[in-house]
Amino acid sequence: MFWSKAFIPTLKEVPQEAESVSHQLMLRAGLVRMLMAGVYSYLPLGWKVLGNIQRIIRQEMDRTGASELLLPALQPQELWLKSGRNKDMGEVMVRFVDRRGRKICLGPTHEEVITELVRTLVFSYKQMPLILYQIQTKFRDEIRPRFGVVRACEFIMKDAYSFDKDEGGLETNYKAMHNAYNKIFSRCGLNILTTEADPGVMGGTVSHEFMAPAESGEDVVGVCPKCKFTQIFQEPKASDCPRCQVKLDKINAIELGHIFQLGTKYSSAFAANFLDAQGKLKPIIMGCYGIGVSRLIAAIIEQNHDAAGIIWPNEISPYKAIILPLDVAQTMIMEKAQDIYAKLDELGIETLFDDRDERAGVKFKDADLLGITLQVIIGKETLENNSVELKLRSNNQKFIVKQTEALKKIKGILNG
Ligand SMILES: [Zn+2]
Repeated sequence: MFWSKAFIPTLKEVPQEAESVSHQLMLRAGLVRMLMAGVYSYLPLGWKVLGNIQRIIRQEMDRTGASELLLPALQPQELWLKSGRNKDMGEVMVRFVDRRGRKICLGPTHEEVITELVRTLVFSYKQMPLILYQIQTKFRDEIRPRFGVVRACEFIMKDAYSFDKDEGGLETNYKAMHNAYNKIFSRCGLNILTTEADPGVMGGTVSHEFMAPAESGEDVVGVCPKCKFTQIFQEPKASDCPRCQVKLDKINAIELGHIFQLGTKYSSAFAANFLDAQGKLKPIIMGCYGIGVSRLIAAIIEQNHDAAGIIWPNEISPYKAIILPLDVAQTMIMEKAQDIYAKLDELGIETLFDDRDERAGVKFKDADLLGITLQVIIGKETLENNSVELKLRSNNQKFIVKQTEALKKIKGILNG
């Protein structure tokens, strides 16, 4: 992609309205723009990043044997009365009456819809275990939307649901999801704390939360400095490790994922039953597994940046390389840059070509801000020595390589 054709509105100044580092960098690097409080447009670069995160999530979900589907955002409120959660959701749920007088809500989550669907399609123990998931837009009427995409009114979530004939099946699926979550967060370059959590409004017994330590995080996690026991602080009091009796370290974090063993809470309410091997009617045993997909972008940036800008983990980077011809007026420089661009394209390495007629300083600053994994710098001096300069954004290390070696080196860095 040529920068001159792309849509990357970068900002030099730190935007006043952004409180957290991730929000500032998302605005400055041209990833998102706010439409109104808590509601964001994803610009092309932000959408590419979101696509990369979704690809990782899909791969790891599919590996567990889960199947992807898409459920509607519009839901009848009737289903929420049936589960008993209409009241629990309070003002957070967006409700309205349509022209036929139907009471509708915009889904803040999908346990009700999926249970209703499975009720009509799963009748026998032979149809389970079953895991279904979707990546979908959710809606919450937040009192105080904050930190850009972290606490938003419209956001993208991955939600998965498991259906089993017995508790053992639920345990197995729960563990598989737990493992998949660890892989997803690790591939996204995230350091995560996992805590046992209160199932709260979702219901059920066992649940775990996946928290990304971040300065701007609204949740506080207690971590034992000795045994690494981890828990969420429900109230802002200090407390001790239940195992070692030492004071827990307080760490601010962003909640990225939450998994629940729901049991039969929803299947009982919806009469989602199946016939077991003895022909006995039983409620389906369920689990649910959520990841805040759009909020992941913010957490990744919180944990992967420096004073100059974002440092994308390789798999997340919107482009893998950015080519910086330092003087577009010089034919020799542009020809070499075009040549490398064409070769990277042939190798399937997605590359951004900064063909803007800008000073070298501006290009360097923007490249650092954007955080693309590898910078390929083409200037007069290095070219005259039959070389190009490479810069790794992860550690800002620069090195000169011979032109004949450049492609091999680039491939090595990006695949390594
Ligand atoms: Zn401890």
